[in-house]
Amino acid sequence: MKTLTRRDGLRLLLGTAAAGVLARSAAASAVSSRPRAAPRIAVIGDGIGARALASDLHGARVRLDMITAADPALAIDWGRKRIVKKGETLPFDRVVLSPGVAYGGDIGLPMAWRDASSEKEIMRRALLMSEGGVVLIRVPRRPYRFIEGPYVRAERLAGVLSYVNPRAKIRIFDANNDFPDQARRLDHWRKHFGAMVEWIPAVKGGAIRSRAAVRAALGGRPAMGKGYVVDYIPEQKAARITRTSGLADASGWCPIDPRSARSLMKSDAYVIGDAASWDGAPKTALQARLDGAKAARDICLSLA
Ligand SMILES: Cc1cc2nc3c(=O)[nH]c(=O)nc-3n(C[C@H](O)[C@H](O)[C@H](O)COP(=O)(O)OP(=O)(O)OC[C@H]3O[C@@H](n4cnc5c(N)ncnc54)[C@H](O)[C@@H]3O)c2cc1C
Repeated sequence: MKTLTRRDGLRLLLGTAAAGVLARSAAASAVSSRPRAAPRIAVIGDGIGARALASDLHGARVRLDMITAADPALAIDWGRKRIVKKGETLPFDRVVLSPGVAYGGDIGLPMAWRDASSEKEIMRRALLMSEGGVVLIRVPRRPYRFIEGPYVRAERLAGVLSYVNPRAKIRIFDANNDFPDQARRLDHWRKHFGAMVEWIPAVKGGAIRSRAAVRAALGGRPAMGKGYVVDYIPEQKAARITRTSGLADASGWCPIDPRSARSLMKSDAYVIGDAASWDGAPKTALQARLDGAKAARDICLSLA
């Protein structure tokens, strides 16, 4: 079996074009008597997108500065090309942001929409619910992270409740009028869970935005009680650093070219993962990884 060389690996990782450019660049610096300093790439965020990018740039001739939430980026000085942190600034040639989302519209109810592990909390509370209780899932207007998530969650809850609490109800109050894979899911819910799962779209009063509206949706009963679980998924927009540094537009999200993950607002910047916006962006972990790979490839090509 053929052993993979580092160059083979780069070709696989970054695509033939980028690896070819890197090889030419390496040859050029080898003949130069004073090698150039490695270009500096600042990466803001330590989530899925940032980690994918760092792994895709492994082996490329760049210097990576990873900026995490423990010592966060406070601002970006575009004129001086520096990241501003507490007590220091970091120079960059390119900056990649993967800072995720910020949550808004807090109505004082517990929130279980941080990451994939958040579902455990809702499941735990649903299992403690009294017989015939109601789980209310509130879906904000798109976009939000993991767009198919609320419906996947409803389905998983129904799968468990149909055994342990068969008279329970799951009511999805949705600020949208459709959802991914809608026809198949509605059909599946009807066949397997009967009337347990009910979807209320915006046109039928599904858009709820306040504690009073939650209370009304529960038939006038308080939002916290043994007979109810409220899963209030809040409004979201790109994380704060993107909005204070001019990378987000009026929608609150960061427009990018989906082929390269380059920002459409600032040159030298890439936005990957949930904060990025383009038509149909699914805001999933898989997409964050793909964005990271695209940004890595574009960085290598543009700096060669
Ligand atoms: C309930 C739920 C379930 C999900 N389930 C799935 C699933 O099953 N499959 C799937 O594909 N996707 C799923 N997702 C989506 C997935 O979690 C996200 O798409 C993914 O985490 C996005 O990665 P990211 O790098 O953009 O952001 P994140 O992973 O959120 O990382 C962002 C990081 O940046 C940090 N940060 C923010 N601001 C700064 C700053 N100024 N300086 C430094 N660091 C900063 C944050 O603290 C955070 O650590 C789910 C999401 C949720 C909410």
